[in-house]
Formats: sequence, C-alpha cells, structure tokens
Amino acid sequence: MRATGPGISRNESLDERPYHREIRAEQLSIALNNLPTTLISSVIISTSGTIVLGTESGYAWIPWWLVAVIGTSILRGLWLLGVRRSPAAARDTERCLGQLRLHAFLAGLTWAAVPVLQIGHIETMSGALTAFLMAGISAGALIQSMTLADHGIVFFTPILLATAATFLAQGNLACGVVGANTLLLLTMMIFQAQRGSARFCQGEEARLSSLALAKSVNESNRKLDYLANHDSLTGLHNRAAFNAELAARQARGAGLALAVIDLDNFKLVNDTRGHLIGDKVLIEAATRISRACQPSEFIARLGGDEFAIIIDSAPCEQRAEALSKRVVAVMGRPFVIDGVTLVIGASIGLALFPQDAAELTELFAAADIALYAAKDKGKHQASRFDADLRTKLERSQRIEAEIGDALTHGLLNVVFQGQHNLTTGAVIGHETLIRWAHPELGAISPAEILSAVRSADMGDQLTEFVAKEACRLLRALTKAGDTTSTVAINISPAEFLTGNPVGIILEIIDRFAIRPERFEVEVTEETIHDLTGVNAELNRLMSVGVKIAIDDFGAGHSSLVKLASLPFDKLKIDRCLISGIDGQEKNAQLIATLIGLGKQLNFTVLAEGVETAAEAETLRRLGCAQVQGFHFSRPVPAQSIVAQAREEGARTKELRQVS
Ligand code: C2E
Ligand code: CA
Ligand code: CA
Repeated sequence: MRATGPGISRNESLDERPYHREIRAEQLSIALNNLPTTLISSVIISTSGTIVLGTESGYAWIPWWLVAVIGTSILRGLWLLGVRRSPAAARDTERCLGQLRLHAFLAGLTWAAVPVLQIGHIETMSGALTAFLMAGISAGALIQSMTLADHGIVFFTPILLATAATFLAQGNLACGVVGANTLLLLTMMIFQAQRGSARFCQGEEARLSSLALAKSVNESNRKLDYLANHDSLTGLHNRAAFNAELAARQARGAGLALAVIDLDNFKLVNDTRGHLIGDKVLIEAATRISRACQPSEFIARLGGDEFAIIIDSAPCEQRAEALSKRVVAVMGRPFVIDGVTLVIGASIGLALFPQDAAELTELFAAADIALYAAKDKGKHQASRFDADLRTKLERSQRIEAEIGDALTHGLLNVVFQGQHNLTTGAVIGHETLIRWAHPELGAISPAEILSAVRSADMGDQLTEFVAKEACRLLRALTKAGDTTSTVAINISPAEFLTGNPVGIILEIIDRFAIRPERFEVEVTEETIHDLTGVNAELNRLMSVGVKIAIDDFGAGHSSLVKLASLPFDKLKIDRCLISGIDGQEKNAQLIATLIGLGKQLNFTVLAEGVETAAEAETLRRLGCAQVQGFHFSRPVPAQSIVAQAREEGARTKELRQVS
C-alpha cells in the first residue's frame, strides 16, 4: 500500500523513504498500545454524554446510540485481542493499519450521528453540550493521532463536519458562527495532526539512522579489529594478538605452556614449487594444527612458517606434551596440494611459564631454544626446554652481550690451518679460523661467535679483524721467505647481509700492501645463491686478483649444474664427502667427477677434513690436488706457521748450498 503522508512531496511516497517499514511498524505498535485507552475513554465519554443529553433533552435515540458506541468498542477490543494473539496478523503492518483506519472512520461516523440527529433543534442547551462533547472527543483523538495523522483525521473529520453542518443548518448568526468556528477548528486540527505525524516520522528516521550508523561503526570496528589481530592467509591470530593473549593469560596467574611450531621442509617447497603452493601448504598446516587443538588453546601464525599455541588448562605440562605429539603426527602426514604429494613435517619447541622463564620474552627465547634443539635432533619432533638448554641459552645470551667488547678490545684471536699439495706434501696455503678463549665460559666455538656477531650486527668488525690477521700473517710469511702461499678467510652470510665485507677486504689488502693473489675468500654456495648482489661483489674481488673458494661443497644443497655459473677459483669439498672415502666407491666417483670438472672449468679441488692416511691415499689415487685436515696439520697460532716457514726457507737455502 502506498500512503502519501505528511511532510512528503507529492511524487515521493512514504515507502521510498528510508526506514519506511520500521516507522510504519512503530506507528502500528503505538496505535495498538493506545487502542485500549481510546476504547475505554470512548465508552466513558459516550456513557456520560448519554446521561447528560438524556437528562437534558430526553432523546429516544440516545440509548440506541450508546449501545452502538459500546458495541463497536467491544468489537474493536475483540479485534485487538485477535491481533495480539496472532503475531502473524500483527506482522502485516499495512493491513492492520488499514483496518485500524477503517475502525477509526466508522467510530467517527457513530459519533457524527449525535449532531446529525439533532438537526433543527441544535440551538438548545443540548446543542451546546453536543458541541462541547464533539470538540472534546475530537481533541482527544488529535492527541492520540500525533504519531499517525490519518487515523485521527478520519475519526474527527466526520464528527466536526457533522457538528459544523448541524449548526450552519440552523440558519441563524450565532449558530452560523459556532459552525464556522467548528470548521476552522477542523482545519487547524488536520494541520496539527499532519505536522505532529511528520515530526514523529522525522524523529523516527533520525533515531533509526543513528542506530544504523552506530551499528555500522560497530561493524567497521569489528572488521578493523579482525584485520589487526588476524593473519589474512590462514585466518589464525597474528603475532600481535598472540602477544596480547599471552600477556593476558599470564596475568591470570595460573601457569601456561608455549609451543612454537616450525615447518621442517617449507622453505624447500616454497623455493622449488612456488609461493602459490607454499601458501596452500601454510593454510593446510593451519587447519591441521587447529584440528589438533582444544577450543581453550590459542593458536597463531607468528609469520613465515612459524606457528605458536598457548596451552593453559590444567595440567598444562601434560596437555602441552600430548598436543605437541599430536601436532608432530598430523604434520608428518603427507600434504596433497594440487595433486602433488609433499612431505612437510614440523618441529616444536615447548616452554613452561613460570618454570622455564620469569618473563614472557624469556619464555619465547626458551621455546625457540627448545625448537632449535628439536631441529638439531633431526626435526619431526617436539623438544621441551630443560636445564641443559637453559645453560645453553644463558651462555649464548652472555656471548651475545660480550661480543662487541671482545671484538673492539681484541679479545678474539685467530689460528691458521695449513692447506697442502697432496703430491709433495708442501704447505701451499692457510685457512684463518676464529677463536675466543673466554676466561669464564672457556673456548667459544666459531658457530657461537658467528651467531652472536649476527645478533649484534657486528659482521663488519669481524671481517675487519680476521682480514687484518690474515694480512699480518701474509706479511710475516713474506718476511720469512714464503712468497707464494695463500691465506684464506671465511665470510659468512651474516657478514654479507648486514655489512660491506668486500670493501673492507680491498681496503685492508691495500693498506698492508699484500699481493691480492695471495689472499683468498671462502664462501658457501648458499651464500652466493641466497643473497642478492653477492655474485657481483665476488666478481669485484676476482677482478683485482683475490681468489674465491667455494666452501663446504656437498654439505648443503649442492648442485653441479649451478657450479658453472659461479665466480670462483677453488672448490673445497666438505668433510662429509671425504670422511671414510677409502671405503666408499660412490663418494669416490663423485670426487673423481668434481676433479674432472675442475680441470675443464679451471678450478682447483681441495679435500677438507682429511683425517687418515687411507683417506689421503684414496684422494691421491683420484688425482685430488690439495688437502686440508688433521692428518696433515691442525689449526695453530700464526707464530707456529711463521716459524715453520722460516725453517722451510732455511732448509731450502741449505739444500741449494749443498747442491
Ligand atoms: P670451515 O670453513 O669448514 O672450517 C674448517 C673447520 O673444520 C674448522 O673448524 C677446522 O678446525 C675443522 N677441521 C679441519 N680439519 C679437520 C679434520 O680433519 N677433521 C675435523 N673433524 N675437523 C677439521 P672450526 O675452526 O671449528 O670452524 C668451524 C666453522 O666456523 C668453519 O668451517 C667456518 O665456516 C666458520 N669459521 C671459522 N672461523 C671463521 C671466521 O673467521 N669467519 C667466519 N665467517 N667463519 C668462520
Ligand atoms: Ca672455510
Ligand atoms: Ca669448510
């Protein structure tokens, strides 16, 4: 139904306005609520009117009229009960409103009968009473219709029209004035009813639109909140949400467990199969982890292929251990992504609060250490932080804290390990190896030093220190008569990543006036492949004559195909391929191939970690040119190397004199 309402332009119907339905429903609700009052007052006023008019004029129709008014009121009351009992009827707003309007009109006609039945003798006391009664009931209807103009208008218009007509029909001035005033009153009341109703609609519109605005603000806040706290790929919580939740749960005072999960083969899959497959693996991993968890456990993707879980239901240690086992098991099952079967697997580090850490940052560090331990032990397993790992953690924290001072105050030192010509046994080079004899922690391994250097971002200081020591040795060797042997230094990915090792090396070689051909730089194949720009940097070194050696070949993802594209002079075959070579035909064949490749591509092959005479003999048979290992020499301080060079020089001199 289309009802044109107050305050609305002719072309604009109400149901095109915003919230039309809601406003009409509200109007209906108010009208239904008002109806009992309307009916009761109608019965009271008609009864009292009957008494007054009956006493005053003795009209015979009066009791019948009262019966009609009370009868229609009862029928309207019954109609209201029916609507209230049947919510379906109340839901059809326009139909209900239409019926209410019809009722109001019929009631208006009933009341209009009172003046009409007095036509011709209105100019009596009963006429004045009638005028008063009709104006009063109309005013009451006006008040009731401030929310819904047309219902009031259809009620009081017939009443006031009939009253005015009855007075005007009397044909004298006084009654004419009363009739005209009644018409004026009717006009004003119609106008007021429409204005009131229009105001009500505007007010409702404003109220509903502010409610809608508040709802949409809430909705937007919820969306922003979701984005701020969730990982868009997996839908899990993100690191920020995880940290906040961890702090909140820790504040509750009860213990909790933190499990940090890292996928074992994700990097390889991501590199070889591409990011799209990688993303699908992460989504599947998130689903599997979620399914393995209880609803009370809080899961997040911390970034990359790292996930974490908070477990805080008692007994949380047992629960965390059981959950870790479940996660390792589900992640160990093959992933089938786009028809490709992939083996991913996961390692887990577990730490408990407050047993393993007094603060949350420490708890993360503890779980991380436990995770590394799980990886170290061969991956696909969970590892719990324990006293041993705590000692390791404290040690690595202390090393990290002291590495800066140690480097600037010269507390580190280097040793040199000889590289030998396998045919003659002569020393042809030396590898510089870093050492730190800590007064309290004892010997600190190069791996520990490198990890601390990386954390403290001190790669350049390490490069500078080692390169200077290498150049000092070269200068001393030259003085001792050795003018040909080389000295190599190692450069780790961390040094390339955060610093400028090549610039430092070139500057130091220049400062020490070293022939670049005697200086060698060892890098791993991964360093060149994984870090952008390293290739060009190595070419810079080679262009001035510095030698490049590929270190640890065979220990990582080595590739013969890739070798051809790398800039280098020497290939150092890792100890893992050399150890036990005398009894391993397969490795022997591989080394023979590398030696053959070296001859074609013009690089030298050096076998690392030669520990036995049998290994040395096999390598000699295979035609390996150079060796390094405990069987030939151990890493020693520079003085020993220089003393040996002097002896060597003196022996050569003697031999020359003898001959
Ligand atoms: P690397 O470059 O492979 O160095 C050779 C390592 O093998 C040295 O261990 C050496 O002592 C050891 N080694 C030599 N011959 C044998 C053998 O016959 N048997 C066995 N079992 N081991 C042998 P080290 O000095 O502990 O160094 C470990 C690693 O630390 C090095 O491996 C190198 O990657 C790194 N590193 C050492 N010094 C430095 C440095 O000054 N800078 C950088 N960036 N890395 C360094
Ligand atoms: Ca090396
Ligand atoms: Ca090596």
